[in-house]
Amino acid sequence: GTGAREEGCVFCGIVGGDVPAELVASTDRVVAFRDLSPQAPLHVLVVPRAHHADVVALGAADPATLADLVATAARVAADGGCTAGEHRLVFNTGTSAGQTVHHAHGHVLAAPGASLDGH
Ligand code: 5GP
Ligand code: ZN
Repeated sequence: GTGAREEGCVFCGIVGGDVPAELVASTDRVVAFRDLSPQAPLHVLVVPRAHHADVVALGAADPATLADLVATAARVAADGGCTAGEHRLVFNTGTSAGQTVHHAHGHVLAAPGASLDGH
């Protein structure tokens, strides 16, 4: 399904408030919360409120929400202490690419006050 809430989807559960998460930002279109298993000093997931299987499906169905997701990622990075909101935004698309939760999400990865990869 696309657009509405999907039964059994953990990120739909977070958006709906039924699954606990540490929210860091939200808009009328997207919600941002900390990843359970952080892979960087700042690791936040930004997801559309509506269920879409992956970022490609989201962009096709609702490009304005994808644009809001990207803008929210930069705001999360800026609020998290990243100079000029700099960050890495990663979308795993499909199981073979490592996508484990099939509700579109961008990983915001950053090292506030330092840099990723030790640059
Ligand atoms: P994927 O591999 O699908 O791109 O990323 C899924 C991400 O969701 C993983 O980094 C994983 O740690 C995170 N995750 C999975 N379940 C939950 C959850 O219930 N709460 C939070 N905050 N993160 C989750
Ligand atoms: Zn969902």
